[in-house]
Amino acid sequence: MAAGERITSDVCVIGGGPSGSTIAHRLASFGHDVCLVERHAFPRPHIGASLPPTILPLLEFIGVRDRVESAGFLRPERIVVWWSEAVPTVRSMLGPPGFHVDRGAFGQFAVAER
Ligand SMILES: Cc1cc2nc3c(=O)[nH]c(=O)nc-3n(C[C@H](O)[C@H](O)[C@H](O)COP(=O)(O)OP(=O)(O)OC[C@H]3O[C@@H](n4cnc5c(N)ncnc54)[C@H](O)[C@@H]3O)c2cc1C
Repeated sequence: MAAGERITSDVCVIGGGPSGSTIAHRLASFGHDVCLVERHAFPRPHIGASLPPTILPLLEFIGVRDRVESAGFLRPERIVVWWSEAVPTVRSMLGPPGFHVDRGAFGQFAVAER
């Protein structure tokens, strides 16, 4: 988009992080004309993220679970938890594992869906 260019849309979402891109994708899937405004260029180098298994129903809800699951991200079957205890504990996942993702690559899923 060029500086000074005008865009008309039903909805303008500010910020293309997980929240903004998900709601923009959802509104677009309902047929709204959506403009998503992000101040940084994507994809960009971004620290990795650990996504717990509780993200799976959310990915399913927005229609990208199959694609994320087949993207080749690491699927940890155990996690190390270290909050207030003196030593870390290793816990096994119950059910399907979550993901360790390259956040830049992961951020492409909602965008690529459009
Ligand atoms: C160091 C760190 C490590 C983390 N690790 C994990 C992890 O391992 N697993 C996990 O699940 N969560 C992790 N989180 C939390 C996770 O990053 C956040 O919960 C998530 O990014 C929140 O998403 P969001 O879309 O609400 O906000 P953000 O991801 O912050 O996205 C907001 C977006 O809005 C854009 N923006 C802001 N202002 C404007 C503007 N005025 N105009 C245009 N664009 C704008 C920003 O550039 C940004 O892209 C971590 C957070 C941090 C800081």
